[in-house]
Amino acid sequence: MCESWQERFAESPDVLKSAERPQTTVQVLDFEIGGGLFVTMAGPCSVETEQQIMATAEHVRRGGTRILRGGAFKPRSSPYAFQGHGLEGLKMLARAREATGLAIVTEVMAEDDVPLVAEYADILQIGSRNMENFSLLAAAARSGRPVLLKRGLVATVADLLRSAQVVLAHGNPNVILCERGIRTFETAMRNTFDVAAITLLKQISHLPVIADPSHASGHSDLVPALARIAVAANADGLIVEVHPCPAKAWSDGEQSLDFPAFDAMMAMLDPWIALRDLELAHHCDRQQQEELRVMEAVR
Ligand code: PEP
Ligand code: MN
Repeated sequence: MCESWQERFAESPDVLKSAERPQTTVQVLDFEIGGGLFVTMAGPCSVETEQQIMATAEHVRRGGTRILRGGAFKPRSSPYAFQGHGLEGLKMLARAREATGLAIVTEVMAEDDVPLVAEYADILQIGSRNMENFSLLAAAARSGRPVLLKRGLVATVADLLRSAQVVLAHGNPNVILCERGIRTFETAMRNTFDVAAITLLKQISHLPVIADPSHASGHSDLVPALARIAVAANADGLIVEVHPCPAKAWSDGEQSLDFPAFDAMMAMLDPWIALRDLELAHHCDRQQQEELRVMEAVR
């Protein structure tokens, strides 16, 4: 890695790639994130009803998803908007996991809720609005669950890496970084998808990096193209909002894919993921050849 990146992100030494730590893989149930497999997390913004979460879980599982997303504790901009079902929502997610075998990722908003959410979730999501809530990060780290760390609305890459460093420093190496769009002067879309940040993070950090095209754009019709860009940017996976009836969603309906749109996106992504896998295999081959060459040279 270029020396200047090491210097620039010197405050977050443990998240940077090194010879000893080229890539972290995060184990979830019986698979890994960051190990080459492109992992899709999908589901509604909020857990609304048993029927909604079950139907979505069954559908996204059939489409190749490994992880079900869904908020039980929702960070809403308005105090009058739906705040999530809390414990009831967690229980619905647990029943969906039981029925489908999908892993669960769900947001934890408060330090006091960490033990409860960790009991139900396979991955704890730290939302954008909490990226720099350091006591929450420390509590999430101590839970021992993998942490999905979403980039803050106005956080730089250095800020994101510092927050990841906090989780690592509290003894939890299983952090997944998530680019979910940032605030810029552009208002046509909900956020600005910072695809360069994905490229940079993949280059400098050993942590898995995923993209959230739903919050990055705020428009369901833009989500598939942004997902394709995330694959091409070498992301390790996606987190995407899917709802049986987006028009009736209790939150983020305008950016949620319905089932046919989700299926079409997954089918469209297939050849792009295959190309990515081929490229990764070539890269591994080249690395092995280089290692052999070095070994021959020292013999
Ligand atoms: C979400 O995933 O539903 C969410 C609230 O995301 P973010 O924290 O990125 O806004
Ligand atoms: Mn949402």
